[in-house]
Amino acid sequence: MRAFESTQIFFDAAAEHLNIEPSLREALLMPSREVQVQVTIERDDGSLANYVGFRVQHDNSRGPMKGGLRYHPQVDLDEVRALASLMTWKTAVVNLPYGGAKGGIGVNPSKMSKREIERLTRAFVDQIHDIVGPDTDIPAPDMGTDHQVMAWFRNQWEKYHGFNPAVITGKPVEEYGARGREEATGRGVGSLTVKLAKRLGVKPAAAKTAIQGFGNVGTHAAKFLYESEFPIIAVSDLTGTYYDPNGLNISEVLRHKLNHPKGLLEGYQHCECLPVDALMSLQDVNVLIPAALGGVITAENVDDIHASIIIEAANGPIDPEADAVLQEKGVTILPDILANAGGVTVSYFEWVQNRQHYRWTLDRVRQELDHTMNEAFENVWQTAQQNNVSLRIAAYMIGITRVRRAAELAGLTS
Ligand code: GLU
Repeated sequence: MRAFESTQIFFDAAAEHLNIEPSLREALLMPSREVQVQVTIERDDGSLANYVGFRVQHDNSRGPMKGGLRYHPQVDLDEVRALASLMTWKTAVVNLPYGGAKGGIGVNPSKMSKREIERLTRAFVDQIHDIVGPDTDIPAPDMGTDHQVMAWFRNQWEKYHGFNPAVITGKPVEEYGARGREEATGRGVGSLTVKLAKRLGVKPAAAKTAIQGFGNVGTHAAKFLYESEFPIIAVSDLTGTYYDPNGLNISEVLRHKLNHPKGLLEGYQHCECLPVDALMSLQDVNVLIPAALGGVITAENVDDIHASIIIEAANGPIDPEADAVLQEKGVTILPDILANAGGVTVSYFEWVQNRQHYRWTLDRVRQELDHTMNEAFENVWQTAQQNNVSLRIAAYMIGITRVRRAAELAGLTS
């Protein structure tokens, strides 16, 4: 199933509970603007390379649009459209004064040099600088991009529009970035995992956890959960699944990754090394955290999953068919638009600091992040209880209700 179709199915299920008529549903779901651009760069060997870049601006009823930039070979219009719509519901669920957008380039950055990625980013900005800005649409990191890419993006954008670091978030801390932004998504995932387990009566020692994907989100979630005494029995990256039924020593795993020339888990010795796909179907896993690509749990592999709790650190990891099977089995799913909202929440704090020319301490960032995530969690939990729906449908119901209200107050058709 295509990514946008998946999000549409979840949206429709929630809209059904809210009795929203079809034409309004269509208006809320349809992206406001979709931009596709050519991104051509000179490779280091002097040859030309052409890529396709996208920015989809989904909705701005609640404020300037917000969402990351993804550099990945799978990026296409459908995926970016799905991710942009998720940003609209995500910013609404955590009640940030933003709409939703997403962008990306269909490219494999691991096959490019640093200078090539810089040229790619600058060429992309040349194509889209007019449609982004601190009051219109504010990009941020996502898969395949990091604070360095944000710094290049800002620098190139400022060549056209002048100084304004609030045009993009996730910048280097010393270059108008926010302390705690890099860890924020993983920290939010970790703190809500702890909260959900407690709510369900699962003790930390019994919450045997597996994390698929060991990038920015996976590593910070692992760190938080390890410190919270959750046994992390498996982690994976593209080189394999690293498994220890008694719990991995996450400090050691992180050290290994840090020392690996490409930041991979490859060669980590102190555990069993299984094939990449093995992580999903481990028998003794209680908490499963997909923290990489979307569409990884489908009708095809859903029956192999043994976890009773799934935390969607990735965007769109479970498709609607698999979601229905998991619901039927009584698996509790913490949906992406709540679970991974910590990143965009601290992006908001960064944007606020930039606009005020003021710096928060790391303690303040963490405190406000925890507060925002807790409040959103309680809201979603109560909505789910009151309406007898899943946490996902409850989160969508809250997001859609807020966006609808803002659109109606503004006058939908004007
Ligand atoms: N890319 C992240 C997400 O999917 C963060 C977006 C942002 O900070 O604007 O939520």
